[in-house]
Amino acid sequence: MSDTFRALQVSKTDDGLKAEIKDLGMGDLMEGDVTVEVAASTVNYKDGLAITGASPIIRKFPLIPGIDFSGTVTASDNASFKAGDKVVLNGWGVGEGHHGGYAGMARVKGDWLVKLPDTISLERAMAIGTAGYTAMLCVLGLEKQGVKPGDGDVLVTGAAGGVGSVAIALLSKLGYRVIASTGRASEEAYLKDLGAAEIIDRKELSEAGRPLGKERWAGAVDPVGSHTLVNVLAQTQYGGTVTACGLAQGPDLPATVLPFILRGVKLVGIDSVMAPKAIREEAWARLGKDLDLKKLDAMTTKAGLGDVPQLAQDILAGKVRGRVVVDVNA
Ligand code: NDP
Repeated sequence: MSDTFRALQVSKTDDGLKAEIKDLGMGDLMEGDVTVEVAASTVNYKDGLAITGASPIIRKFPLIPGIDFSGTVTASDNASFKAGDKVVLNGWGVGEGHHGGYAGMARVKGDWLVKLPDTISLERAMAIGTAGYTAMLCVLGLEKQGVKPGDGDVLVTGAAGGVGSVAIALLSKLGYRVIASTGRASEEAYLKDLGAAEIIDRKELSEAGRPLGKERWAGAVDPVGSHTLVNVLAQTQYGGTVTACGLAQGPDLPATVLPFILRGVKLVGIDSVMAPKAIREEAWARLGKDLDLKKLDAMTTKAGLGDVPQLAQDILAGKVRGRVVVDVNA
């Protein structure tokens, strides 16, 4: 292992944010009790917001972005980890206020790390990434509210995106009948291969609608927010559950209380960033068991560190399909 490593660093200039690949040293890393040789990172929607500056996600400059990574522990002062452990990190402000995953090395708090299940390789851990781990949190959210495969259809919005693609693969493997809502009709075959039984046009859900509609689904995973989430709630059957995890359409929620007070619909918020360790470990263990790796591979493309600034723009434009693994050494 050399003393220097490649990293994508974002600095603030008079013209906005600037992302450059640099050679950095171990002294450039921030404090932490565990050092990790990073194998891979990925591009999540939030990374897109951070690198382009579309939202003020990055709070310190210059910063190595990348809200997640997988890698191998090289040194540890934390009793829970030792050199050689394969780990994954999602969130905790990494890539926002602490140097993140777009680098050959990372130094972080051991409390932020989760040991990977044996069935998930370092590369696949980032094919899953924060988007896939969030999809698992949504599935756990539905299960904890008692939504069962026999209860009726389950809707996944933002279907061809990262959270959506993994959610479809997980839910179909668990026996749910999945309806996929997408703006990309051309991805019908892709979504059906992942396990969607039916595809609907996202336009059906994205405009202002009626406060209560026909009861169509027993549960839903919604990474889209705004009018879409409102319509999803309005069309959820009596006692059903909707997990809300994203804002791809917008952060607003122009809803009425009618689905809650007339149909007992439950709206469950999903946060991956500050989720307690026990929930993370449960989610990663379930991903190791319940995610079809062939489907994961089919939704994954590969990229190098230099591709990240373009991918950041592409993901905000809704042009990235499924998941992207970033090889930080390529
Ligand atoms: P992606 O960009 O991969 O997927 C988002 C998908 O949403 C797009 O592919 C598209 O799907 C759909 N979409 C985009 N724009 C619109 C629009 N204007 N109206 C309706 N649908 C739209 O992002 P991710 O899957 O990585 O993330 C999805 C969301 O989840 C983001 O908002 C992200 O910030 C959030 N998130 C939240 C987390 C948490 O902790 N709560 C963790 C991870 C992600 P299609 O083309 O199929 O229509």
